[in-house]
Amino acid sequence: MTEYQQEQMKALKLVTGYLSGLTSGDMEILKEKLANYLCFRKDVDIFLSAHFSDICTETCYQSQISACCTREGIITFFADVVVNVIMSDESAIKDLFSVLQSSQDRSKCIYLGKKGCLWKVKPLICEMFLCNKAEDGVLKNNPDLQKEWQALKAREKSFRWPDQKVLFDDLEQLFLDAGHTSPLMYLHNSPGLLRVKEQGDFRVRGPKGEKGFEGKP
Ligand code: SF4
Repeated sequence: MTEYQQEQMKALKLVTGYLSGLTSGDMEILKEKLANYLCFRKDVDIFLSAHFSDICTETCYQSQISACCTREGIITFFADVVVNVIMSDESAIKDLFSVLQSSQDRSKCIYLGKKGCLWKVKPLICEMFLCNKAEDGVLKNNPDLQKEWQALKAREKSFRWPDQKVLFDDLEQLFLDAGHTSPLMYLHNSPGLLRVKEQGDFRVRGPKGEKGFEGKP
């Protein structure tokens, strides 16, 4: 197993183990927390399939290039794993465990199966990725679609960019509070994101921790 596979495997084991110990009531509360995010993901899917499915089918699927999935080690946030496990059935999770133990074809993502991505709710970075050809072909000369895409990108940030309270941070915190850590917890261990978080906190709380202070750092 590569280092990437081991890291992914550990995160998957951690998340499945923790979630399997929750009561059904706690799981319901957790699912409620995801509702807005899942609604956002649905809106992105609708947008992409309405405007990009032709160019993606022609460029990647028919030619079997699948350029967006040819990266060997795609970045997954810890929250991506949590959301995906919550939304997956046993068989989908079994498939993930099994592929993570297999030998890796380094020319493509480990999660790319014969019928596409093995994740039920694929990582956010993958969801929001548009290759240059697709972006130029569909968005370049269409200001209305550009606006729609930018609005979706802004919504994306509201779930994962920690200059404000965001779902991805909350999901990491849930596991940290239970005594678990993972290198995939970027909102708690990436120096860049920690700086963003500090600056956001400063804007809200002020230099003396006074909530409501709106001054600039
Ligand atoms: S995780 Fe899924 S969508 Fe993302 S690169 Fe891998 S196969 Fe493609």
